[in-house]
Amino acid sequence: MTEGSDGPPVPSEVELRWVRMPLRAPMRSGHGAESTREVVLVRVQLDDGGNGWGECSALSRPTYTGEYTAGAWAVLRDELVPDLLARRRSSVVGHPMAAAGLATAQADADLRRIDRSLTEQLGRAQRVVPASHVPTCAVIGRLDRIDDLLDEVAAAIQQGAAAVKLKITPSRRDLDHLRAVRATWPTLALAADLNGTAGVAHIEVLTALDSLGLLYLEQPVTPEDLVTSALVASRLGTPVALDESVTSLAMAEAALRLAAGSVLNVKPARLGGPLAAARLAGLAADSGVAAFCGGMLETGVGRAAALAVAALPACTLPTDLGPSSRYFASDVTAPIEAGADGTIPVPTGPGIGVVPDPDRLDECTVDRLILHR
Ligand code: MG
Repeated sequence: MTEGSDGPPVPSEVELRWVRMPLRAPMRSGHGAESTREVVLVRVQLDDGGNGWGECSALSRPTYTGEYTAGAWAVLRDELVPDLLARRRSSVVGHPMAAAGLATAQADADLRRIDRSLTEQLGRAQRVVPASHVPTCAVIGRLDRIDDLLDEVAAAIQQGAAAVKLKITPSRRDLDHLRAVRATWPTLALAADLNGTAGVAHIEVLTALDSLGLLYLEQPVTPEDLVTSALVASRLGTPVALDESVTSLAMAEAALRLAAGSVLNVKPARLGGPLAAARLAGLAADSGVAAFCGGMLETGVGRAAALAVAALPACTLPTDLGPSSRYFASDVTAPIEAGADGTIPVPTGPGIGVVPDPDRLDECTVDRLILHR
């Protein structure tokens, strides 16, 4: 990855850590609820003793995409890590979240060798100057009571969020919730994420959503149904953002050609890591469409790596990545926090700019495995 090399050096060992951390509050969306975060942290060690960390941010159940923690653990243990240690080109199909954990750890280790941050590396690759701080979009899960929702939105605004996004389904109740937020804050940069739960049968709800002046409406229809997404996008004035539909550069190109959306959610966890996500952000910029860096309720490891993507000028909209304290009482790294103005500083240290705290890591670890070359 660094200049003059064929790619990151092959590690001498790879450690997998299955960590379990309670979320401060459950995150409910159209595809389910997550109350405890279980991720696989990956550490690679090079021959010179240098280390690098990455995170596979798959959810505990296969409800967002087909990947989930136990499956990612197995594919890393049985396929991806043995292939890497044996210098074999992996024949694994899919599993970008598992691959992201390994790719991030390799990039982290490689960049630490040359004392360069991932942020700087991504900026160099696109010949752009990354931002030093990024504004954020506070993502709020589905809540039962409107009053609780209004309290959450008020808190997010008070903490300096540049935008607020509500997780919704195409239900009357969620529409009423969104309307209440809009009525309370008429000029708020407000977005909504349907997580693929709507379709042409919900055109009435979609039309109602269209009247709320949303920044964008995310993933209205089933991820693979780009034709229906294009139909919906053509009927709405609100920009349609694509998240689950964007599984690769090729899929993003197809989606844009079909006009299935006009905003791309470039989510490092889902796309195979920060380098792949940065390439997709570059496609958005080249295509003249807006983009933002999505989050997956990452721990500090994944959050730091994703912030390097969020800092790219191609990410024109506020990132979904929030401060650690929004999600965890205690993160696995030093907490990543927003400043008084609500923006989050982009890591500038070598590699991804953070490392797990050893004691905290041990506290959270529920399984551990080391594979050697
Ligand atoms: Mg989404």
